[in-house]
Amino acid sequence: MSQADGMHINPQRAKQLADNIGHVTQKITAANKAGRNIRLIAVSKLKPATDVLALHQPPASHSHFGENYSQELHEKAALLPRSIKWHFIGALQTNKCKALTEQIPNLFCVSSVDAVKKANALEKGRAALAEKDQNEEKLGKLRVLVQVNTSGEENKSGVEPDNTTTLCKHIREQCPHLQLAGLMTIGAIARSQATTADVENEDFITLRQTRDKVAKELGMKEEELELSMGMSSDFESAIQHGSDEVRVGTTIFGERPSKEDAKAKASAEKAEA
Ligand SMILES: *Cc1c(COP(=O)(O)O)cnc(C)c1O
Repeated sequence: MSQADGMHINPQRAKQLADNIGHVTQKITAANKAGRNIRLIAVSKLKPATDVLALHQPPASHSHFGENYSQELHEKAALLPRSIKWHFIGALQTNKCKALTEQIPNLFCVSSVDAVKKANALEKGRAALAEKDQNEEKLGKLRVLVQVNTSGEENKSGVEPDNTTTLCKHIREQCPHLQLAGLMTIGAIARSQATTADVENEDFITLRQTRDKVAKELGMKEEELELSMGMSSDFESAIQHGSDEVRVGTTIFGERPSKEDAKAKASAEKAEA
């Protein structure tokens, strides 16, 4: 039982969403020539909780959803079933990290760790949750990905490829409640939109090379570090380049409200902090 029991889902909308995610899943399977396990994160930012619930219920029964704004994630997580596996994929603010991991037990992964102080704050929150949660089924480590700025754009979040090992090492050695699960990139939008079967996306190549280097430097197997890359416009190409996880929003949910609305939401969050 959850508060979601009282939510009204429009059956037509539910069918549309189930069809859309079905098409994406088919494309993933077709692109996945190597037959890896590929996780599909349905990116539900700025979309209503009823959309998430519609996809979480049969026939789609989808579990993995991604959100970019911490306030929005807190609200949806409180409203929707605990069986949902949430991914925080947006730019992390240090002062929001502890609440994120302490208050959302069904947070499955934080995909955008790009600084030691953010990793430390996430660790603190998860440790606090683990302490409170003692009587529940044992809470495992929280998966985190290190976000890499593969495109070298100044305004992009993420660590430089050459500095990635340092942050990965810190998480492994100093954050016992976190599990370093892999690396993530967003990449340059222009490159993403220009990606076709013939035009390779350099961001995917850089992320893969960075992963291989980090694995070597930390004495890990490459398969122990997943690659999270690929969005609506380029997920098939990302899969061909070795992606283990794609994050797809628009193709499943349709266009989002304008950037201005998104910005207003983000700055409202800042003001609250
Ligand atoms: C919004 C977002 C996505 C989804 O983008 P679409 O183009 O709508 O598929 C994926 N990853 C991140 C980090 C995002 O912020």
